[in-house]
Amino acid sequence: MSEQGLVVLDQVNKRFGDHHVLRDVDLSVRRGEVVVIIGPSGAGKSTLCRAINRLETIDSGTILIDGTPLPEEGRQLARLRAEVGMVFQSFNLFAHKTVLENVVLGQVHVLKKSRADAEKKAYELLERVGIGGQAAKFPAQLSGGQQQRVAIARALAMEPKVLLFDEPTSALDPEMVNEVLEVMTALAREGMTMVVVTHEMGFARRAADRVVFMADGEIVEQNAPDDFFGTPRSERAKSFLAKIL
Ligand code: ADP
Ligand code: MG
Repeated sequence: MSEQGLVVLDQVNKRFGDHHVLRDVDLSVRRGEVVVIIGPSGAGKSTLCRAINRLETIDSGTILIDGTPLPEEGRQLARLRAEVGMVFQSFNLFAHKTVLENVVLGQVHVLKKSRADAEKKAYELLERVGIGGQAAKFPAQLSGGQQQRVAIARALAMEPKVLLFDEPTSALDPEMVNEVLEVMTALAREGMTMVVVTHEMGFARRAADRVVFMADGEIVEQNAPDDFFGTPRSERAKSFLAKIL
């Protein structure tokens, strides 16, 4: 019997007013799988990520994380949302907290860990993403690439079952893109389940198990990276790739 997906979307629909931004989206992400989502601006990629993390409600369909729907609200939501880590384009760090505090806070408040345990874990994670020496600084004192690595450490600190990345390198200066992609590639190799929205096609080829192409709120096609990039099937994917490659 094949294992049930860790993240399973079934016939998900989302509208903003008259605008139908997610149309009958079906997607199942296996444990340990790295799914890269690509597609033109406005395709619904961010909305999809936000819906998986329940930062956005959906109008119909179901989203299960490890077999369980995210609760509507309340105390359970914070706990379950911690199982679905998210890294945003704009880092979203707490500006008035140190790097260390950024990685400690959720562990203490949501996971109810002791401060000592949370700090130990935070130092480990900051080391792992290559910024062990920056713990006492504030986010504004770091480069964009370093801030994004703090955001990844903060997400990992919650011991998520899956990590979502929404264009994590789009706001970075070009020379900082690789240091973030390298951390993400290492996570992928270590078996982390990841859903990554990105325009970095090199990362998609290198790290993805599957590329999902979205346009106009729909999953138009999906395939292993070599097959998707080598022989896209739909006209929409062909014309998208022709523009970006
Ligand atoms: P992508 O990330 O693929 O660029 P988005 O998911 O951000 O696409 O947006 C999909 C569509 O939904 C876009 O047309 C966008 O303008 C619209 N949209 C996104 N968020 C909102 C919102 N909060 N209110 C109204 N429209 C929205
Ligand atoms: Mg987006």
